Amino acid sequence: MTDSITIALSKGRILDETLPLLKEAGIELVDDVKKSRKLVFPTTDPNVRVLILRATDVPTYVQYGGADLGVTGKDVLMEHGGDGLYEPLDLNISRCRLMTAGKKDTEAPEGRLRVATKFVNLARRYYSAQGRQADIIKLYGAMELAPILGLADEIVDIVDTGNTLKANGLEPRELIEHISSRLVVNRASMKMKHAGINPIIEKMSAAVEKRR
Ligand code: ATP
Ligand code: MG
Repeated sequence: MTDSITIALSKGRILDETLPLLKEAGIELVDDVKKSRKLVFPTTDPNVRVLILRATDVPTYVQYGGADLGVTGKDVLMEHGGDGLYEPLDLNISRCRLMTAGKKDTEAPEGRLRVATKFVNLARRYYSAQGRQADIIKLYGAMELAPILGLADEIVDIVDTGNTLKANGLEPRELIEHISSRLVVNRASMKMKHAGINPIIEKMSAAVEKRR
């Protein structure tokens, strides 16, 4: 019997860059994702289906076995933690940097810092590893506003060109991590469905290598 495999993809920019890699692994979506309101998609491989999720939900689906494989950003994985997940492949797509940022030409205060971010776990770990006292404030978007409105001294966020920071009177400070999207696998699926999963990892890995 052939294993049936569910792959959870992050919608948006990661999806656009993942689909060509999956195609090279012999897996193509049958429908046009842009035109469909479906959340579960059949593929050209009758044993493989694809879920399209919010990036932050991908590790949760894979951890609990709702999906066998997933693709999401390293930032999301660092925030979520690696429980139940195996991370065999750096897809080298959706590259950006995870950074601290603050108001332009302003020094971070000496004492306790206030930090606004959607990456609360990651930020807590980062400042504590730096030996800096920090109060972390959870936001769900528009982090750039927080220092300007006096809500926080710094933010922790994804930086690509830096244009969004600049447009909001902020500047990048410290690099926390280089980010790219990763393939993650449910630990139990890795053992139980290796016959179905291994070829997918190998072919995606070859597709990534070809692009280097
Ligand atoms: P929304 O922006 O709709 O609230 P979101 O922030 O959860 O959703 P995205 O902004 O699409 O989702 O980001 C998802 C992932 O894409 C991030 O976790 C990161 O890994 C990657 N990413 C985000 N912004 C960039 C960027 N500017 N360049 C490259 N990769 C990025
Ligand atoms: Mg976003």
